[in-house]
Amino acid sequence: MTRRATGGIRHLWWIYLLLTSALAVAYVTVPFTSGTRWIYVVVNSTAPIATWIGLRGHVPQRRGGWLVIGGGLAFSAAGDVLFALHTARGGGPAFPSGADVLYLFGHLTIAAGTAMLASRAGRTAFVDAAVILSPLASLAWILVVDPTVTVGGSPTARFFAVSAPINTLLVVYCALALALGVELRTPGVRWLLSGLVAWFLSDALYTHQSLTGSYREGGLIDLGWMAMPILLGTAALHPSMVATTPRRSAMTTLTLPRALILFSAALLLPCLHLFWEPASDMPLVLGSALSMALVAVRLAGPIHELSWRAGHDPLTGLVNRSLLMDRLALALSSMPSDPAARVGLLFCDLDHFKDVNDSLGHDAGDQLLMEISTRLRAAVRDSGVVCRLGGDEFVILMPETTEEQAAEIAGRVAEHLGRPMRLSDGTEFFASLSIGLRTTGDPEADPDTLVQDADTAMYQAKAAGRGRMVRFDAEIRAEAAQRLRLDADLRRALTHPGELFCVYQPVFRVDDGRLSSVEALVRWRHPTDGVLPPAVFVPVAEAAGTIAQVFVVVLEQSLTEQRDWHDRTGRWIPVAVNLSPRQLDQSTAQLVLTALERTGTPPDMLTLELTETGMAEPETVEAALGPLRRAGVKIAVDDFGTGYSSMARVADHGWDIVKIDRAFVAGIHRDQARTSLADAMVKMAHALGMVTVAEGVDNAADLQVLARLGCEFAQGYLLSHPVGQEGILELALVEPRESVELGPGRVEPGEPVGVELDVEGRQQVV
Ligand code: C2E
Ligand code: MG
Ligand code: MG
Repeated sequence: MTRRATGGIRHLWWIYLLLTSALAVAYVTVPFTSGTRWIYVVVNSTAPIATWIGLRGHVPQRRGGWLVIGGGLAFSAAGDVLFALHTARGGGPAFPSGADVLYLFGHLTIAAGTAMLASRAGRTAFVDAAVILSPLASLAWILVVDPTVTVGGSPTARFFAVSAPINTLLVVYCALALALGVELRTPGVRWLLSGLVAWFLSDALYTHQSLTGSYREGGLIDLGWMAMPILLGTAALHPSMVATTPRRSAMTTLTLPRALILFSAALLLPCLHLFWEPASDMPLVLGSALSMALVAVRLAGPIHELSWRAGHDPLTGLVNRSLLMDRLALALSSMPSDPAARVGLLFCDLDHFKDVNDSLGHDAGDQLLMEISTRLRAAVRDSGVVCRLGGDEFVILMPETTEEQAAEIAGRVAEHLGRPMRLSDGTEFFASLSIGLRTTGDPEADPDTLVQDADTAMYQAKAAGRGRMVRFDAEIRAEAAQRLRLDADLRRALTHPGELFCVYQPVFRVDDGRLSSVEALVRWRHPTDGVLPPAVFVPVAEAAGTIAQVFVVVLEQSLTEQRDWHDRTGRWIPVAVNLSPRQLDQSTAQLVLTALERTGTPPDMLTLELTETGMAEPETVEAALGPLRRAGVKIAVDDFGTGYSSMARVADHGWDIVKIDRAFVAGIHRDQARTSLADAMVKMAHALGMVTVAEGVDNAADLQVLARLGCEFAQGYLLSHPVGQEGILELALVEPRESVELGPGRVEPGEPVGVELDVEGRQQVV
């Protein structure tokens, strides 16, 4: 059990500091006598006791360092007692005496304790401290050690005379390491370090004075020697002593101020040497050499890390794009002249990775990416470079391969990835990859284009149903070029009013055949290719992100024309506009509400049609469409039955309309199975309070079955092709104004009504 600082000890540090400081000041101010010498001894003897009380009271998690420091203080205090006893007997003690032995132990032990505190800061703190200490050590050698050695005396005396400054430097070294590794703002650390600095200063002054024979007891040097135990004792009693060990850190990066300190330290001796020529400059040379060598050691880590980071992905450790491009260029330029030799690229994209991130969180996503990178490495072995381009995209470069080997590696990659992966929470994940393969035997090929080609092939693999490999070929190249051209043309068309326009397919009531609403369908009058249907350009717009702009054009035009129908017939004809799941975001709602406001359209006269795939993430859908639903705008599930969502999911959303896909409608009159399916869909929709629209009704027999099943609305070529705005106006006018609610105006099944649009976009009454 750990005990935390009790109330009693919390204030002890300042009481201790006050009392011992008062004694120390008294010691140096009153005239020195053999009696006052004991003040010095008493003050210094309190420090090990204070440290022991601090350790007991604060119970730091790592107490080893403090225990050893406490022992060092005890050695030091014992040395003082011995010294005082010697001098009390009259005359100075012999040198070296027992006191000197104890002082030696005191220094070594306190240095060791400080090093133990600093040890958690890691190697860099000790290397940095050594860089700074080397010049100090050189100076100490020249100024102190050298003269001491030449003074003479017995070997023991010389040993002690030389080891005193060396021990002092050792203490300074450990204090520096601690200072460089620990959070300096905590008071405990500050007391501790100040105590060690005071000790060093007094030691240095003493060494100087003893060389010149000018040392006198009871002076400022003694004050510094007292400051050390006082400040260390205070530090041990201070509650923040528990924070005097550094937090373990992986700090290998070098901050600028720290780098400057290290460089200045390494340059100190060479600069000094410009002005000062000591008798032997060997210590200067050695000191600066050591300091510079240590700076180099210190820089090696960060430099290695920097260059590694420049070429690798930090999460998976795989090569990144820039290193890949480098390796690819190298592989091309060193391709052997063998006609079968190829450089190969596999562009791999994880299918449905976004779902993992969205449903299991980013940690699971990261785990998955790491597992996948391990498997990719294993699948490729030494024959390739595995790169993570970002997100869930990986590229494998095969620098020296053939067509067969490349396909074999692609197969191996798919196989390795096909095995289930277990995430740390136990979830099993079956990864599937869409892979694009691009090989070339042309050493002049452009690396960027090659990667782009592999990407295009991967895109094709995805479009063809994911989980497969597609090899880049001429056909794909042509398709990609066509897509690029369409994308550029579409961006231009979006700034040319009229190129994109809507036609409207009427939706009729099944029971009485009256017009119930219209669906706006976009067309593109392309300057050279004629009128293009949405199947040609909507996927391009979805992939390129221009689909939202297409939506705005369709929404604006259809709301304006709906307003016009209203002004000319007095009737609001509900309009449905298709909304791509790819454009669902927070801005959608505001955009639609503003458009409704501009034309003064009642919100319930607008329906947004969203295909089933758009329902994959309920939160996104709700965030984007919630405000519209609350305003009264209706939402329809388009092409129901073609996606993977269940009726339950539709129910979760609580939407208004289910549009049964053409696949479940066409030919139901002669297909019992399909009739049952359509029947089930209608029943479930009704149970959920939704109405149904049958899409693609193109013969009367099917319509009759739908009527029997209770499907309320129908659209299809049988009833009307999509028509221009005039076509809808005529249709609305056919139905007399007073019979909007009820009555004649019935459109007979099998009798197409309206205005059809020919391929040029011209209207023809049919
Ligand atoms: P959708 O929303 O399911 O639209 C119905 C499609 O079925 C229309 O094709 C329509 O002409 C066609 N259709 C209607 N009756 C019949 C029939 O009896 N037989 C056959 N074979 N087809 C029939 P369209 O206009 O080519 O639109 C295709 C798809 O393009 C639409 O499917 C919709 O998903 C998308 N789309 C159309 N306009 C837009 C738009 O403005 N924005 C977005 N994001 N997508 C649109
Ligand atoms: Mg639709
Ligand atoms: Mg549809």
